[in-house]
Formats: sequence, structure tokens, C-alpha cells
Amino acid sequence: MTCQEAERLVTPYIQGDLEDDKLEEFLEHIENCENCQEELEIYFTVDYGIRQLDSDADNYNIKGEMEERLEESRQHIQRRRMFQIAKYAVDTLVAMSLTVMTVMQLRMWGVFW
Ligand SMILES: [Zn+2]
Repeated sequence: MTCQEAERLVTPYIQGDLEDDKLEEFLEHIENCENCQEELEIYFTVDYGIRQLDSDADNYNIKGEMEERLEESRQHIQRRRMFQIAKYAVDTLVAMSLTVMTVMQLRMWGVFW
């Protein structure tokens, strides 16, 4: 992902509109790119400020909030990855047992001998 692409995803990210695939790439880029990290921080700060206007909270901990948010996203991606691995394992198992069942069926019909 290029910086340009990442910058375009900053707003959707903050609004929580990012699809999982994009989110994963975005997080990866943010982790390795200081410029985009700063960009995200600026947008996040603005967004946070606006939301603060609507609430009575008076503790401004933007950096902490952003870290929390990023951590949440990372966990979301991790859970998704685990799910994909599990799904792959189940799919593989199903395919294998289908093969075994087919072979046994063919044996019963005397196809192999
Ligand atoms: Zn970048």
C-alpha cells in the first residue's frame, strides 16, 4: 500500500467504514510509516475533538485513545485471521472425509477389485 492510498483510508478508518481486507493493509502501513501515522493522528485528534464537544468528558487523552483504537483494530484483524485458518482447516477436513467416503463407497461397489 502506498502512502497515497493509506491517506485516503484515514477518514474511513476513523469512521469505522474500512473493509477488513483494507483495514489489514492499512494497519500494516500505519505501523511502518511515520508520515501516515502522523496523518492518522491529526485526523483522529480532529475527530476526537469534535466528539468531545458533544460530551462532558474533560480528560483529553488523544494518544491513548488512538492507541486503544489501533489495538482494537489489530485484534479484530487477528480474530479474523484465526477464523480464516479455522475455516480453512474445517474445509480441508470436510474435503478429506468426502474423499475417504467416496473411496470406501467405490470399494464397496467393487470398483477397485
Ligand atoms: Zn505512508
